[in-house]
Amino acid sequence: MQTIITDSPEEAAEILNAGNVVAFPTETVYGLGACICHPEAVKHIFIAKGRPSDNPLIVHVADTGQIGDVAVGLNEYAVKLIERFFPGPLTVVLQKNPHVPDSVTAGLDTVGVRCPSDPVAHEFLRRACCPVAAPSANISGIPSSTNWETVYKDLAGKISCILRGNPSKIGLESTIVDCTGPVPLLLRTGAVTLEQLQEVVPETIPATHTEKNVVPKSPGLKYPHYAPAASIVLIRHGETVTAAPHSAYIGREEPPKGISIAKSCRSLEEYGKELFSFFRQCDAEGIRVIYCELPENCGLGRAIRDRLQRAAGE
Ligand code: AMP
Ligand code: MG
Repeated sequence: MQTIITDSPEEAAEILNAGNVVAFPTETVYGLGACICHPEAVKHIFIAKGRPSDNPLIVHVADTGQIGDVAVGLNEYAVKLIERFFPGPLTVVLQKNPHVPDSVTAGLDTVGVRCPSDPVAHEFLRRACCPVAAPSANISGIPSSTNWETVYKDLAGKISCILRGNPSKIGLESTIVDCTGPVPLLLRTGAVTLEQLQEVVPETIPATHTEKNVVPKSPGLKYPHYAPAASIVLIRHGETVTAAPHSAYIGREEPPKGISIAKSCRSLEEYGKELFSFFRQCDAEGIRVIYCELPENCGLGRAIRDRLQRAAGE
């Protein structure tokens, strides 16, 4: 299959509307999209990524007016969260509209809905003939793509088109909040923080591991994620390490002596933005061990910790 690379949201949407799979930029990570009205294209997403079919896809809308096409029966706090955080890096899990095919939601009666704020994503989604189901545009299990070059590396020849945009501004996948229960349940952390959610709905709570193990509320969380080929070693505050040969460092502290590549970040925002592309750079350069600063468990630090701990297999 030939993969067309284009800068034009219009051309990419035409290819999408013809029933094909198209990768597109968003502010979180690059997405791999198919119109939900083209079930064959939706199936092709799972094949191209090697994604287990019981892992549901997030549906992307161009604006809040489209939410009614994919979800029904929104409660009061869901409306508040949507009003405050859409468009942006928040996915809300809602009761699904029966029009949404089961292949999108992996048979669940709920659907994850997001409205990206990236202007190129917006132009693309606005021209799509219906809402767009899209997981992250990477081979399952490895770090998400935050620039079009890594999408090309993973998926060239397997998908019809890549809409080329800027590198993702945030670099971490969206925050996911289950809005179908009595209170909002934080299923996955991201750039919309627990603290920000609680400012709008104080009852918001993080899903505990026990809950996830009994009923996987967010099926994708049970799979290994974000792991580069190199081993990940987490450095807790105040800890010092002796660098192994062919090793690398990312974080806000002074890098250990003797490492081959370092990414020094000035802020948590920069750390989040650079994390996945650094993992991929390290793999391309044959790095064996990546030392990563483990940030404190609050604000954006909670999302970075989550990705690091999963990548480290903790
Ligand atoms: P990705 O787009 O690759 O970041 O993966 C999407 C994530 O959203 C996975 O962890 C899914 O399990 C989760 N997800 C999508 N739809 C739902 C849903 N209806 N309920 C709970 N989690 C969902
Ligand atoms: Mg993913």
